[in-house]
Amino acid sequence: MSNDNEKHVKVLVLGAGPAGLAAALYAARAELKPVVLTGMQLGGQAALTHTIENYPGFPEGVGGAQLGELFQKQAENFGAKVEFDMAHEVDLSQRPYKVTTDSGEYKADTLILTTGANPTHLNVPGEVELTGRGVSYCATCDGWFFKDKKVAIVGGGDSALEEALFITRYASSVTVIHRRDEFRASPVLQKRAKEHPKMNFILDTVVTEVVGTDKIDTLKLKNVKTGAESTFDTDGLFIFIGHVPNTQMFKGQLEMSDLGYVIVNDKMETSVEGVYAAGEIADPHFRQVITSAGMGAAAAIQATRFLETSTAELEEAAKS
Ligand code: NAP
Repeated sequence: MSNDNEKHVKVLVLGAGPAGLAAALYAARAELKPVVLTGMQLGGQAALTHTIENYPGFPEGVGGAQLGELFQKQAENFGAKVEFDMAHEVDLSQRPYKVTTDSGEYKADTLILTTGANPTHLNVPGEVELTGRGVSYCATCDGWFFKDKKVAIVGGGDSALEEALFITRYASSVTVIHRRDEFRASPVLQKRAKEHPKMNFILDTVVTEVVGTDKIDTLKLKNVKTGAESTFDTDGLFIFIGHVPNTQMFKGQLEMSDLGYVIVNDKMETSVEGVYAAGEIADPHFRQVITSAGMGAAAAIQATRFLETSTAELEEAAKS
């Protein structure tokens, strides 16, 4: 971009997952010419999902990447601009807000933050290579693919046990591998999990390697108390050891929860006027394509209303 004027936008969206692209669609239809900075991953986490079967309107399911492309195309059809650019720094101390990116600097009258969250990884050999080939971080997305199969789950929190119980609908057996002998999950979930006939537990144990070529075959395990090593044959491995919201850039400038999620009210407003957050950056609970897209749409509607009001106020002030 060559001059400041070209970089001054009414609505700047950070992140191009379902929340960001839905926000862009709504802002574009309000003729606000939004710019979306994609960051590293166009389509967000959803683009990594092989098939999405719970997004309404696609009775046969839709590829995660394909759905992201459709979102993008629809937003662009109404005038949104999607830039393959990465934001590094934001200054929310005054409007227009300043965003420094790989390509330079943007000034934005409103910001919609949709930078998402990433599941925490085990960081063991084979995990990355076999993601999508048996290794998954989303039971709602991938549980169905393990119908009558043997599944292992790593984690001992609410997510791990809740998702493990969900997967028992499909899998023939579900084995929870946890690094301690006590669970962090709520007592109710623990009771349900322990009483479920399909559930098994391997405690005080960590996964040290995921083994397989085209698909997962075996896990290498280590007992953390005895040091004993063993293997566990499985068709799937679901990892639920927490999520990390991508909010590093906003620390100290926006109100956040203890877990680092941006706090929004029911209008997607953050603690800074004119700055909205939507999708997994602000949602530790639902983490679905449809809920993120809904939050994105709400954020854009609210940004549109804010711009109308603040522009009217500025015009009024100029007259008096
Ligand atoms: P969490 O409560 O932080 O639990 C993470 C689990 O993963 C812990 O058991 C932890 O073990 C284990 N873990 C972490 N790093 C690991 C590693 N490198 N290797 C092996 N295991 C590892 O995370 P969460 O279950 O995603 O829950 C996040 C928040 O959302 C919590 O506040 C939870 O209550 C809430 N939540 C609520 C519900 C619900 O109410 N229905 C559902 C889901 C989540 P240690 O225990 O040894 O640390």
